Amino acid sequence: MNIILFGPPGAGKGTQAELIINKYNLPHLSTGNIFRAAIKNQTPLGQKVTAILDAGDLVPDQLTIDLVAEELKLDKYSNGAVFDGFPRTVSQAEALDKLLAVKGEKVDAFISLDVEEEELVKRILSRGQGRSDDTEEGIKNRLKVYHDETAPVQAYYESHDQAFEISGIGTIEEIHNRIVDVLSRSSSK
Ligand code: ADP
Repeated sequence: MNIILFGPPGAGKGTQAELIINKYNLPHLSTGNIFRAAIKNQTPLGQKVTAILDAGDLVPDQLTIDLVAEELKLDKYSNGAVFDGFPRTVSQAEALDKLLAVKGEKVDAFISLDVEEEELVKRILSRGQGRSDDTEEGIKNRLKVYHDETAPVQAYYESHDQAFEISGIGTIEEIHNRIVDVLSRSSSK
């Protein structure tokens, strides 16, 4: 099963992804986590993307798509994945469809977490993870990039009849239950 958790920065994708991977025994594919690990380990990829992440801009599509293509070759993804932070542009969404088609798979559910902007900024500033992009400037730019480049990804999946939108407001457990509910409906489609 291939599940995409979608939403603006601060919507809770990472938190919900952790719960879903445990429940369904699927691997987590977070491009943000992969980039942050590369930066921490000072790999060539990390050096290329440090300034981009700090500014809250998007890593170029081709670099991101190549990275995901390599990642998906690993055995652990043989039964699918929970995608978190990818795809973030329509080109990435199209590329993912192709990468999955090669494996005889598809996106089974695209779940969008809906949270209003004021709440997003509050959450990011209070999560205190010490991420170097969690500054007021960084957050502002990530939200702008989300509206300009990432939000259209939802329309892409809506036009393919794979999209579900749920409220991202409530307790972690309430939101988790909404996701489980959506997944049980999408699997019976
Ligand atoms: P958040 O949801 O809080 O913005 P992520 O961990 O998903 O956090 O992403 C952090 C940063 O990593 C983004 O601002 C961007 O610079 C980069 N990034 C992550 N995923 C992608 C992607 N699919 N395409 C381009 N850049 C990405």
